[in-house]
Amino acid sequence: MDQVLVGVPAVLWVGLLVWVTVFGGAASFVASTKGRDTIAWFLLGVLIGPFATVVVGLAGESHEGTSWARCGACLEPVRTGSTRCPHCQVDFG
Ligand SMILES: [Zn+2]
Repeated sequence: MDQVLVGVPAVLWVGLLVWVTVFGGAASFVASTKGRDTIAWFLLGVLIGPFATVVVGLAGESHEGTSWARCGACLEPVRTGSTRCPHCQVDFG
């Protein structure tokens, strides 16, 4: 590998491409299974590598299979279909 592009050895560009594909792709995939923002998690995966995949994997578990909305009064997450906010007791009916 003696080919140089913009002063950086080609092997580093290949390594970067692999890093982006593997960790960005993995974080994005896990985020999609959790119903989360795939673009944001892709970028996080690129930035912090395998940690993003671990974080989104753990963070998503408690919300899995449940739709969440945000309470208009206190801005806390509330299950979709709730008639009353469990945080501030506002009645949605
Ligand atoms: Zn509330």
